[in-house]
Amino acid sequence: MRTNWQSLISQFSHDCDWVGIREYKETTDYITARNGKPESTNSEISHGVMLEVMVEGQFAYAGTVDMSNQGLQDAFRKAKHMAMLSSPHKLHSFNLDTRPAHTGSYQTPTQVPLDALSFGEIQRKLINISKQAETSNEIIDSWAQAMLIRTEIYYLSSNGSEWHQDFSIVSKDFGVTAKREEETQSRSYGFNGLQTGLDDLDDNILEAEAIRIGHQAVELLEARDCPADTRDLMLVPDQLYLQIHESIGHPLELDRILGDERNYAGWSFVSPNDFGNLQYGSSKMNVSFDPETETGMASYAFDDSGIPAEKAYLIKDGILLRGIGGIESQQRSGLPGVASSRASDWNRAPIDRMANINLEPGDSSMADMISNTEKGILMETNRSWSIDDYRNKFQFGCQYARLIEDGEITETVKNPNYRGVTTPFWNSLKFVGDRDTSKVYGSPYCGKGEPNQIIRVGHSTPTCVFTDIEIFGGA
Ligand SMILES: [Zn+2]
Repeated sequence: MRTNWQSLISQFSHDCDWVGIREYKETTDYITARNGKPESTNSEISHGVMLEVMVEGQFAYAGTVDMSNQGLQDAFRKAKHMAMLSSPHKLHSFNLDTRPAHTGSYQTPTQVPLDALSFGEIQRKLINISKQAETSNEIIDSWAQAMLIRTEIYYLSSNGSEWHQDFSIVSKDFGVTAKREEETQSRSYGFNGLQTGLDDLDDNILEAEAIRIGHQAVELLEARDCPADTRDLMLVPDQLYLQIHESIGHPLELDRILGDERNYAGWSFVSPNDFGNLQYGSSKMNVSFDPETETGMASYAFDDSGIPAEKAYLIKDGILLRGIGGIESQQRSGLPGVASSRASDWNRAPIDRMANINLEPGDSSMADMISNTEKGILMETNRSWSIDDYRNKFQFGCQYARLIEDGEITETVKNPNYRGVTTPFWNSLKFVGDRDTSKVYGSPYCGKGEPNQIIRVGHSTPTCVFTDIEIFGGA
């Protein structure tokens, strides 16, 4: 099908300043089990191309599923027409520097490819996990789900870019609800998506985790409510990754800072003058954009504007250095960014997105962090969250918590919550866990834009301790 794309692009290029084509093909399989039985299987395919055109310094786009010569010609004409109509109103005049030529390829490293097992075989794994999690007759519901995604992107441009990327993604989660009289408590593994193969669905590891989840749900039925107090807060990766996502990732997106993006609690407390100056967090805080994170859900070689992606620090020793914005936002704002211009499908134009946004590990062991905490609380796995439009004041609820008294873990408490304000919270960062406490998490459900784009993000983080945080109980 692509045999004559090169000559078509070359033909189109006589009629505009620049033209690129991005083919996007994705297959998504959803498989679920509930209470030891199969529940559902579902498969979706999305396949089409996006033509991107620059005319008189203005970009415009047209997507199509008709990949014939005629289909591509129609899409090109549409995109060119849009670019000509909008050019007189443009915010910024772009040129070929915005679309430098690059070639290459990327493929997710995997041990067991996604097609190595049938739907039925994967569903049997999930049935087994949901059975293992039923550790007591007080467990009234148990479920397990997996989502397998294969994505191929091919990119070609009139000035010599040509690259290909192949992604393999596995997302999984499982959980239970336990009930005793009027009390119910839910506990889950914590949704996690990784760039990997089916090696990620390891029966021995998942069975052990399912049993732990089952026991902890029943344990919560007996626990008292989390106290209202001020304590040192220890967060493990399955909660801290969401804290990073909401209170570092989103406020650093350059399109929010430029004022373009207002949807989904969309502004930011960060202003352009803050880059290079703002003490975002304590000196132990180092946050990177790292497209080379092993198993990171958003590892890639090129973003969807065709820019090669490389690791860069957004925050170093607590100082804000760089935003999350692709080449257009960087050129418009004059601020430093990263290769993070991303589109969720063939029918969406790339916008500023998170990718792998990681908190770099420090040097504290888990044992040291606990033994050096006099009055603390350790919270695990997100249950609820809210944050204001400026990504400033937030409140998170977790599923499971244990108090720390005089350097030792003591009592389990239920319905734990904490609240804070972004920069004071990150400035209270006291201990940053070492590599052994780190884990990579990923979510396929980061929403942004109009029309809506749901995109995949990754966050690697160690366990950390924050000083004097307001905590409270309640569902
Ligand atoms: Zn998000």
